[in-house]
Amino acid sequence: MLSVENLTKTYKTGDKALTDVSFSVPKGQVVGLIGPSGAGKSTLIRCINRLVEPTSGAIRLNEMDLTRLGQGDLRRARRRIGMIFQEYALVERLTVMENVLSGRLGYVPFWRSFTRRFPGADIQKAYRLLDRVGLSAHADKRADALSGGQRQRVGIARALEQDPELLLIDEPTASLDPKTSRQIMRLIVEICAEQGLPAIINIHDVVLAQQFTQRIIGLQAGRIVFDGTPAQLTEDV
Ligand code: ADP
Ligand code: ADP
Repeated sequence: MLSVENLTKTYKTGDKALTDVSFSVPKGQVVGLIGPSGAGKSTLIRCINRLVEPTSGAIRLNEMDLTRLGQGDLRRARRRIGMIFQEYALVERLTVMENVLSGRLGYVPFWRSFTRRFPGADIQKAYRLLDRVGLSAHADKRADALSGGQRQRVGIARALEQDPELLLIDEPTASLDPKTSRQIMRLIVEICAEQGLPAIINIHDVVLAQQFTQRIIGLQAGRIVFDGTPAQLTEDV
């Protein structure tokens, strides 16, 4: 479970990006984070993975307070958060399998063909994940030979490879066509339910968020202005 309590972020420039933001996300729930540009969505995601230092408030992930960690603990804490990106952030010259295994390393090795450096159990796990996202037949393909939807599936498998306790997902469908977008959203929601993973999806497409997430949080000018089910959102708007 993720719990965000009275989170406030004021940048050095004086911009108040978040004001007193509180919510919690139970295991298996996928939250769609919506709001106009400048609402504070990226700041919220970055505070949770601690790329941005919160001004005040607490962020707890399964009882660990992410806002009170030293640099060493911070690295370990970040390993517990799986990130999925809009532009996939795959390493083009590496294979699908290697991209997934790089999620386990937490960095991308500069040397080639590193798959054999992993124990068999890790490779089997990576195959299981690739199978789950429908890509086991493509494990040895280079990332740059894949379609957009396939690339995002690799991104999902890579995030899962590190056994995350939370998924933070930034505009996962922004570069995909509508049909592929729906497939990717469905896959994410199914996997989170299966694995009991809480997830936050930063998503500008409100219709897609309503169709696939169980809960929507709306931010405006750094404050939560809506927190409810997709059906409640329709009634309010
Ligand atoms: P969103 O992701 O919803 O578009 P952001 O979190 O990027 O919103 O931005 C929220 C507010 O914080 C905006 O007013 C923006 O100008 C400001 N902001 C974002 N990043 C920075 C930064 N690095 N320094 C100063 N102000 C920032
Ligand atoms: P390839 O498999 O592409 O032939 P290698 O994997 O054998 O290449 O290694 C390529 C380069 O990366 C070599 O210079 C090697 O010393 C370096 N290297 C290999 N493994 C590691 C490692 N675990 N840490 C740092 N450097 C490494």
